[in-house]
Amino acid sequence: MMALLPARNPIAPSPATSAFLAERHALLIDGEWIEGTGSAITVENPATGQPLAELRAASLAQLNAAVAAAQAAGRGRWARSGGADRGAVLLRFADLLEANLELVAEVMTLDNGSPLASSRMVVQHLAIATLRYYAGWATKIAGESFIPNLGARPDDAFMVATLREPVGVVAAIVPWNAPPGMIAMKLAPALAAGCTMVMKTAELAPLTGQLFAKLWAKTGAPPGVFNLIHGHGEDIGAAMAAHPGVAKIAFTGSTEVGRKIVTAATGNLKKVSLELGGKSPVVIFPDADLKRAIPAATMACYLSTGQQCMAGSRLFVHSAIHDEVADGVAAKAAELTVGDGMDPRSVLGPLISAQQKARIERYIALAKVEGAVAHLESPVFDAPGHFLGPTLFTEVRPGMRIEQEEVFGPVLSLIRFEDEGDLIAAINGTNYGLSGSVWTQDITRALRIARQVDSGQVGINIHAAMSPETPFGGNRQSGWGRELGREGLEPYFKTKAVSIYLGPDAP
Ligand code: NAD
Repeated sequence: MMALLPARNPIAPSPATSAFLAERHALLIDGEWIEGTGSAITVENPATGQPLAELRAASLAQLNAAVAAAQAAGRGRWARSGGADRGAVLLRFADLLEANLELVAEVMTLDNGSPLASSRMVVQHLAIATLRYYAGWATKIAGESFIPNLGARPDDAFMVATLREPVGVVAAIVPWNAPPGMIAMKLAPALAAGCTMVMKTAELAPLTGQLFAKLWAKTGAPPGVFNLIHGHGEDIGAAMAAHPGVAKIAFTGSTEVGRKIVTAATGNLKKVSLELGGKSPVVIFPDADLKRAIPAATMACYLSTGQQCMAGSRLFVHSAIHDEVADGVAAKAAELTVGDGMDPRSVLGPLISAQQKARIERYIALAKVEGAVAHLESPVFDAPGHFLGPTLFTEVRPGMRIEQEEVFGPVLSLIRFEDEGDLIAAINGTNYGLSGSVWTQDITRALRIARQVDSGQVGINIHAAMSPETPFGGNRQSGWGRELGREGLEPYFKTKAVSIYLGPDAP
């Protein structure tokens, strides 16, 4: 039976973390620490419901100053030099994060509730690894040169050289669920390409970004290259999306807000890339290695208490193994210890906020009304934090709202299938197309399914594998464009074709 770990309250942060929390959390604009003059933001520890820190959002004037600083830095050596200096800065930043790994992980855990082990993973394997990956790219940016075909003037000769120029000031807007990864996935390629950046943290978990900025300030990068501000989405976020000085928005968050960003970006037709929500499928066939598939399907949904965009929140199971998988996942899920992320025994931390918890509980109630059966249900935890354990629904059918909509919580819908054609239709039958996985020993079938799934990533006998080299992003309403890998660098360039007249007699 699921139980909430008894709180060993307060689970004391390390002295370094306590010292950081006690600091003044100012904005980083043009290399200076500036007190925000916008609205007040109280950061709450989701595991205790207690305030952690107070900070101030940027005002619109401060946003303008940050954009102006980024524009000025973009006119300097940063953007015009070869990439060796930029790569060196990214490597120094990665080293600083690594040297402060425990501090960064603790701050992330206090900020958004993520269990410490997960926080460490995100910092090391997503943030630091991504910075080092793009540091390598910074020294390998090159256009191409070629002789074009000029049908109308056959006696003249030209050549063309393409320059890969940085797109300009990038406004980055990140969510609260994995700030180190979300920040690095934007900052690293943008800065490697020679862009400059204004980043806004998520108002629910701004402290990790704040700590990133403190460490960034030690890299020796020119002022204005990376500016960090805080603020609410509906005012400062919206102003960033509409800002005429911003050349590109790099956004990760909900599909609903992604749509607003696209609309706001039309004023100056800034470039937009979007990493949005998901409703990813996990498909298990009868010949799958269930000893691996069942625990993996369990964690595919419940990892981060379901608060991850790639969550495998729809589990498609062949009828022949339906009951075995339902019981297996329920048993595994019931073993997952729920508690304060600072407690090393916790596998699932709290939800980010009371509102998010209430929203998920509404989805649980709705699923029951729709006819889904709770095979496992979270007990009500009597604790001040926003805790909710895993819930597993069976008898979910394609088309139910619980099957269609992103819950962003620990709620898994199990859907029975028999026919492969119906399966593919159901998999592709939501507005989302982010991730997914198929579990079978039959490689032909695995590849056949993988080919037909309309999503940015598909795993075969693995769910949601991420690496700095692997392009990541969503199809349909899960996003525009890709982050990570070589493709993740592309949106930060504008290509200039320089045509050179070589003369009428040139060879
Ligand atoms: P959210 O969309 O509510 O907020 C994300 C960010 O957008 C925050 O910084 C917020 O301040 C800002 N924002 C809100 N309204 C805005 C507006 N009108 N204009 C500009 N900015 C605005 O999302 P969230 O609740 O922080 O995060 C959860 C969502 O993020 C989920 O849908 C999840 O699937 C998605 N997500 C996607 C990925 C991915 O890579 N595809 C990764 C993580 C999270």
